Amino acid sequence: MLSVLEPATEEVLAQIPRAGREETDAAVARARAAFPAWAAVGPPDRAALLRDLADALEARSEDLAVLEARNAGKPIADARGEMGMVVETFRFYAGAPERATGKTIPVDGGVDMTFREPLGVVGLIVPWNFPLVIASWKVAPALAAGNTVVLKPAELTPLTAIELERIALDAGLPEGVLNVVVGPGSVCGQRLVEHPDVAKIAFTGSTAVGRGIAAGAAGTIKRVTLELGGKSANVVYADADLEKAAAAAPLAVFGNAGQDCCARSRILVERSVLDPFMAALEDAVEALRVGDPLDEGTQMGPLISAGQREQVASFVNGEAPVAIRGTAPDGPGYWFPPTVLCPVANDDRAAREEIFGPVAAVIPFRDEAEAVRLANDTIYGLSGSVWTRNGAKALRTARAIETGVVSINSNTSVRVSTPFGGFKQSGVGRELGPDALDAYTELKNVFYATD
Ligand code: NAP
Ligand code: MG
Repeated sequence: MLSVLEPATEEVLAQIPRAGREETDAAVARARAAFPAWAAVGPPDRAALLRDLADALEARSEDLAVLEARNAGKPIADARGEMGMVVETFRFYAGAPERATGKTIPVDGGVDMTFREPLGVVGLIVPWNFPLVIASWKVAPALAAGNTVVLKPAELTPLTAIELERIALDAGLPEGVLNVVVGPGSVCGQRLVEHPDVAKIAFTGSTAVGRGIAAGAAGTIKRVTLELGGKSANVVYADADLEKAAAAAPLAVFGNAGQDCCARSRILVERSVLDPFMAALEDAVEALRVGDPLDEGTQMGPLISAGQREQVASFVNGEAPVAIRGTAPDGPGYWFPPTVLCPVANDDRAAREEIFGPVAAVIPFRDEAEAVRLANDTIYGLSGSVWTRNGAKALRTARAIETGVVSINSNTSVRVSTPFGGFKQSGVGRELGPDALDAYTELKNVFYATD
């Protein structure tokens, strides 16, 4: 049995059976058996089923939000926002089956046309930081495109995925179309990667595990989408609205207790405004409400586990001085105070490695060229922000940063209708938006001779 913990209390929240290789193979077999019938469901009916599933999730969204808040230790207000996005994601992709149009291409001697065909069984492997919302970014387009799914949530946070499977069945999704397997990544995840009947892996998680998945997928030439780690830059120029940039910076890195691949964990600040920026940042960090995830006003909860806290702590009291340290409750619970290191050199470990906790590195810069050089001096390229009142400089910088998603005078990264994914070692492929459908289909070309 697997004991699922509540990180704010360290108590057992649920005990569930733990799957292994056999259960994974059985789930793939169910998905494979269900595929032909699911792929043959007409577009209007498939769309209607996805809309019904969205409605069913909406009806359950408050208890799903509480379950996610307790299991992942995230503030209830954030969990509610995530459940809203889950529903929105299913509604967005419910429109897809009826819009999966191909092309006709002018050729000699006949008609050439293209079709988007489903892949078959797809394996979806997701992490513990945004459990159900990241699952929905994969499940919804995969099902919309006519694939069947085996979803493997992280063992730390499997509860909302288990609920999703039940809700989908109750909403009328045919048996075997969506299968959830809860077990260790090194066993169940790896088996999905190697399984000859799995056509594609879509994975969100660490860059280290992502490398293994890319290598493992080579054995059967699986399609892969990888959403991996980040070390994103939040570039603050001297001509920015400093109050606004400083007020937004803490949640851009301490949101979800820093366990966010989009965390703007390197705050690059133009040297001439470092002092006023740090003063405003200190006020904003001290105002952060860290505590019980189920309190309405909480902005930051605990870390996911004792191991994660140990890992995060290893970045503090290193080379870079601690400039700001917020507060956090005493145990029980895997608490860690929001912490700002300053000044940090971009080659310090705290600036190179993804911390995945509430620790920000402030790195001063001299001018635009240095800001861009520092922002790009990383193996990652997932998100980022630029703060300035100079529109041309904002666009120049946004274009020059090697990253998948960049926001100007904002710290947001994801919207259901816009593409999300990484440059460099932050991943391969894009999720969300209409283009994500391409990653769950093959492009088929049919020629019909008319001569
Ligand atoms: P992780 O260790 O890479 O795990 C992610 C998922 O992969 C879990 O379900 C895990 O299962 C499974 N897994 C572990 N080893 C595996 C293997 N050998 N083969 C197949 N699957 C395996 O990541 P995490 O610790 O959960 O999450 C933190 C990391 O995810 C951070 O680095 C973060 O940046 C990244 N992340 C990226 C994004 C993005 O969109 N780019 C979003 C969120 C998180 P078990 O844990 O159950 O063993
Ligand atoms: Mg892990």
